[in-house]
Amino acid sequence: ATALSNLRLLESTKEQANVDELTGLYNRRFLEEYARKLIAMARRKEQPLGVIMMDLDHFKEFNDVYGHETGDRILRHFAKTASRAIREANLAARYGGEEFVAMLPETGPQSCLLVAERIRLAVERMVIPSGTDKPMPQVTVSLGIAIYPEHGQGLEDLLQAADKALYESKRAGRNRSTMYVPQEEPAS
Ligand code: GH3
Ligand code: MG
Ligand code: MG
Repeated sequence: ATALSNLRLLESTKEQANVDELTGLYNRRFLEEYARKLIAMARRKEQPLGVIMMDLDHFKEFNDVYGHETGDRILRHFAKTASRAIREANLAARYGGEEFVAMLPETGPQSCLLVAERIRLAVERMVIPSGTDKPMPQVTVSLGIAIYPEHGQGLEDLLQAADKALYESKRAGRNRSTMYVPQEEPAS
Protein backbone atom coordinates (compact mmCIF):
# COMPACT_ATOMS: atom_id res chain seq x y z
CA ALA A 1 0.00 0.00 0.00
CA THR A 2 2.89 2.35 0.76
CA ALA A 3 4.56 1.67 -2.59
CA LEU A 4 1.26 2.35 -4.33
CA SER A 5 0.67 5.58 -2.49
CA ASN A 6 4.26 6.61 -3.23
CA LEU A 7 3.58 5.99 -6.92
CA ARG A 8 0.46 8.13 -6.82
CA LEU A 9 2.45 10.77 -5.08
CA LEU A 10 4.99 10.81 -7.89
CA GLU A 11 2.28 11.48 -10.45
CA SER A 12 2.37 15.16 -9.78
CA THR A 13 5.59 17.00 -10.59
CA LYS A 14 4.94 19.49 -7.85
CA GLU A 15 5.02 16.62 -5.41
CA GLN A 16 8.17 15.19 -6.97
CA ALA A 17 10.01 18.13 -5.44
CA ASN A 18 9.02 16.77 -2.04
CA VAL A 19 10.45 13.31 -2.56
CA ASP A 20 13.99 12.01 -2.09
CA GLU A 21 15.06 10.39 -5.34
CA LEU A 22 17.15 7.57 -3.91
CA THR A 23 14.67 6.26 -1.33
CA GLY A 24 11.25 7.53 -2.45
CA LEU A 25 10.67 8.92 1.04
CA TYR A 26 9.81 12.56 1.61
CA ASN A 27 12.82 14.89 1.68
CA ARG A 28 13.94 17.19 4.45
CA ARG A 29 12.38 20.29 2.93
CA PHE A 30 8.97 18.67 2.87
CA LEU A 31 9.40 17.19 6.33
CA GLU A 32 10.13 20.61 7.81
CA GLU A 33 7.15 22.19 6.08
CA TYR A 34 4.71 19.42 6.93
CA ALA A 35 5.97 18.86 10.46
CA ARG A 36 5.00 22.40 11.38
CA LYS A 37 1.46 21.67 10.25
CA LEU A 38 1.42 18.45 12.27
CA ILE A 39 2.59 20.33 15.36
CA ALA A 40 -0.05 23.02 14.88
CA MET A 41 -2.68 20.31 14.51
CA ALA A 42 -1.47 18.46 17.62
CA ARG A 43 -1.63 21.72 19.57
CA ARG A 44 -5.16 22.47 18.35
CA LYS A 45 -6.41 18.97 19.11
CA GLU A 46 -4.41 18.71 22.33
CA GLN A 47 -2.97 15.43 21.12
CA PRO A 48 0.60 14.15 21.41
CA LEU A 49 2.90 13.89 18.39
CA GLY A 50 5.77 11.42 18.30
CA VAL A 51 9.08 12.15 16.59
CA ILE A 52 11.54 9.36 15.81
CA MET A 53 15.02 10.15 14.55
CA MET A 54 16.98 7.27 13.03
CA ASP A 55 20.59 6.86 11.95
CA LEU A 56 22.11 3.75 10.40
CA ASP A 57 24.90 2.18 12.46
CA HIS A 58 28.48 2.12 11.15
CA PHE A 59 27.23 3.14 7.73
CA LYS A 60 30.55 4.64 6.69
CA GLU A 61 32.15 1.21 7.14
CA PHE A 62 29.51 -0.46 4.95
CA ASN A 63 30.29 2.11 2.25
CA ASP A 64 34.05 1.71 2.67
CA VAL A 65 34.05 -2.10 2.64
CA TYR A 66 31.27 -2.90 0.12
CA GLY A 67 31.16 0.23 -2.00
CA HIS A 68 28.89 3.19 -2.44
CA GLU A 69 26.39 1.26 -4.59
CA THR A 70 25.86 -1.24 -1.81
CA GLY A 71 25.50 1.71 0.54
CA ASP A 72 22.76 3.11 -1.68
CA ARG A 73 21.07 -0.30 -1.77
CA ILE A 74 21.11 -0.40 2.03
CA LEU A 75 19.47 3.04 2.13
CA ARG A 76 16.70 1.88 -0.23
CA HIS A 77 16.09 -1.31 1.76
CA PHE A 78 16.00 0.67 4.97
CA ALA A 79 13.49 3.16 3.56
CA LYS A 80 11.17 0.39 2.42
CA THR A 81 11.44 -1.47 5.71
CA ALA A 82 10.89 1.63 7.85
CA SER A 83 7.88 2.86 5.92
CA ARG A 84 6.29 -0.59 6.15
CA ALA A 85 6.86 -0.61 9.89
CA ILE A 86 5.00 2.67 10.47
CA ARG A 87 1.35 3.20 9.63
CA GLU A 88 0.11 4.92 6.48
CA ALA A 89 -0.92 8.10 8.25
CA ASN A 90 2.60 8.71 9.50
CA LEU A 91 5.29 10.68 7.79
CA ALA A 92 8.70 9.19 7.02
CA ALA A 93 11.43 11.35 5.54
CA ARG A 94 15.11 11.18 4.64
CA TYR A 95 16.54 13.92 6.79
CA GLY A 96 20.16 13.66 5.66
CA GLY A 97 22.57 11.11 4.13
CA GLU A 98 21.73 8.14 6.36
CA GLU A 99 19.47 9.94 8.81
CA PHE A 100 15.71 9.58 8.76
CA VAL A 101 12.82 11.10 10.67
CA ALA A 102 9.32 9.77 11.27
CA MET A 103 6.46 11.87 12.64
CA LEU A 104 3.54 10.07 14.28
CA PRO A 105 0.38 12.09 14.95
CA GLU A 106 -1.64 11.23 18.05
CA THR A 107 1.15 9.01 19.34
CA GLY A 108 2.40 9.24 22.92
CA PRO A 109 5.60 7.82 24.45
CA GLN A 110 4.57 4.17 24.89
CA SER A 111 3.17 3.72 21.37
CA CYS A 112 6.02 5.67 19.84
CA LEU A 113 8.56 3.43 21.55
CA LEU A 114 6.70 0.39 20.21
CA VAL A 115 6.86 1.78 16.67
CA ALA A 116 10.57 2.56 17.05
CA GLU A 117 11.24 -0.97 18.21
CA ARG A 118 9.16 -2.36 15.35
CA ILE A 119 11.38 -0.46 12.92
CA ARG A 120 14.56 -1.53 14.69
CA LEU A 121 13.60 -5.22 14.72
CA ALA A 122 12.45 -5.14 11.09
CA VAL A 123 15.84 -3.67 10.12
CA GLU A 124 17.57 -6.44 12.07
CA ARG A 125 15.76 -8.94 9.85
CA MET A 126 16.63 -7.26 6.54
CA VAL A 127 18.46 -9.44 4.03
CA ILE A 128 20.58 -7.38 1.66
CA PRO A 129 23.00 -8.75 -0.94
CA SER A 130 26.52 -7.40 -0.34
CA GLY A 131 27.21 -6.98 -4.05
CA THR A 132 30.62 -8.64 -3.51
CA ASP A 133 31.94 -12.10 -2.52
CA LYS A 134 32.26 -10.88 1.05
CA PRO A 135 29.38 -11.75 3.33
CA MET A 136 27.92 -8.65 4.91
CA PRO A 137 27.22 -8.16 8.61
CA GLN A 138 23.66 -7.31 9.63
CA VAL A 139 22.67 -3.68 9.06
CA THR A 140 21.28 -2.06 12.22
CA VAL A 141 19.79 1.31 13.12
CA SER A 142 19.80 3.48 16.23
CA LEU A 143 16.72 5.49 17.14
CA GLY A 144 15.88 8.47 19.35
CA ILE A 145 12.36 9.52 20.34
CA ALA A 146 10.85 12.81 21.47
CA ILE A 147 7.20 13.61 22.13
CA TYR A 148 5.24 16.82 21.64
CA PRO A 149 4.44 18.61 23.91
CA GLU A 150 6.48 17.27 26.84
CA HIS A 151 9.88 17.26 25.09
CA GLY A 152 9.48 20.37 22.96
CA GLN A 153 6.93 22.85 21.66
CA GLY A 154 8.42 23.57 18.27
CA LEU A 155 10.06 21.52 15.50
CA GLU A 156 13.63 22.58 16.31
CA ASP A 157 13.25 21.64 19.98
CA LEU A 158 11.66 18.31 19.16
CA LEU A 159 14.31 17.37 16.60
CA GLN A 160 17.04 18.40 19.00
CA ALA A 161 15.52 16.27 21.77
CA ALA A 162 15.13 13.28 19.42
CA ASP A 163 18.73 13.75 18.29
CA LYS A 164 19.98 13.75 21.90
CA ALA A 165 18.10 10.51 22.53
CA LEU A 166 19.58 9.07 19.32
CA TYR A 167 23.04 10.03 20.48
CA GLU A 168 22.32 8.18 23.72
CA SER A 169 21.38 5.07 21.69
CA LYS A 170 24.72 5.31 19.88
CA ARG A 171 26.63 5.85 23.09
CA ALA A 172 24.97 2.88 24.77
CA GLY A 173 26.10 0.53 21.98
CA ARG A 174 23.84 1.20 18.94
CA ASN A 175 20.94 -0.94 17.58
CA ARG A 176 18.55 0.40 20.22
CA SER A 177 15.73 2.90 20.80
CA THR A 178 15.95 5.62 23.44
CA MET A 179 13.29 8.00 24.73
CA TYR A 180 14.45 11.55 25.41
CA VAL A 181 14.85 12.31 29.11
CA PRO A 182 14.61 16.02 29.91
CA GLN A 183 17.76 17.31 31.62
CA GLU A 184 17.26 18.18 35.25
CA GLU A 185 17.26 21.89 36.00
CA PRO A 186 20.35 22.80 37.99
CA ALA A 187 19.40 23.38 41.63
CA SER A 188 19.25 27.07 42.45
P1 GH3 B 1 27.44 5.74 13.48
O1 GH3 B 1 27.15 4.32 13.84
O2 GH3 B 1 28.04 6.48 14.61
O3 GH3 B 1 26.25 6.45 12.93
O4 GH3 B 1 28.57 5.71 12.35
P2 GH3 B 1 28.41 6.02 10.79
O5 GH3 B 1 29.58 5.43 10.10
O6 GH3 B 1 27.07 5.59 10.32
O7 GH3 B 1 28.39 7.59 10.81
P3 GH3 B 1 28.99 8.67 9.83
O8 GH3 B 1 28.12 9.89 10.01
O9 GH3 B 1 30.44 8.81 10.10
O10 GH3 B 1 28.81 8.10 8.39
C1 GH3 B 1 27.78 8.44 7.55
C2 GH3 B 1 28.16 7.96 6.17
O11 GH3 B 1 27.03 8.01 5.30
C3 GH3 B 1 29.22 8.80 5.52
C4 GH3 B 1 28.71 9.07 4.12
O12 GH3 B 1 29.69 8.76 3.18
C5 GH3 B 1 27.54 8.11 3.98
N1 GH3 B 1 26.48 8.58 3.08
C6 GH3 B 1 25.76 9.72 3.20
N2 GH3 B 1 24.87 9.81 2.19
C7 GH3 B 1 25.03 8.71 1.40
C8 GH3 B 1 24.39 8.24 0.19
O13 GH3 B 1 23.48 8.85 -0.37
N3 GH3 B 1 24.81 7.05 -0.31
C9 GH3 B 1 25.80 6.33 0.29
N4 GH3 B 1 26.15 5.18 -0.25
N5 GH3 B 1 26.44 6.76 1.41
C10 GH3 B 1 26.05 7.93 1.97
MG1 MG C 1 24.86 10.02 10.60
MG1 MG D 1 25.32 6.50 11.08
